[in-house]
Amino acid sequence: MGGTRMHVCPLCKRSDGTTRLSAYWRTLSPEGRAGVPHLARPALHDERWTAPLGLLTVGCALLVADTWLGFVGLAGGGFWLVSLRDRVAQAAKERADWHRKLICRPCHHAFLP
Ligand SMILES: [Zn+2]
Repeated sequence: MGGTRMHVCPLCKRSDGTTRLSAYWRTLSPEGRAGVPHLARPALHDERWTAPLGLLTVGCALLVADTWLGFVGLAGGGFWLVSLRDRVAQAAKERADWHRKLICRPCHHAFLP
């Protein structure tokens, strides 16, 4: 169909109902999406950057007034950013996987081809 190879669903072993998850998600209504939250595209949580960056900024400002507190702020913000970077990389990978995923319409099972 359309030149695309049919994939067999690992759950129900059917191959007649598989389609791209991203395409399937676009066809769902808001009510339909609410019923299958596990199929949603993973979010990137960009807003989480503001807290550690704010701590870094405060650390820089404090460095001028109070060296000790400034260092604590800089170290904390830096450590926070590094751990956040790993989680963001993980989220980006999950998002990339989501775009590659297929869904089996009959049983609503999403899987990587
Ligand atoms: Zn299936």
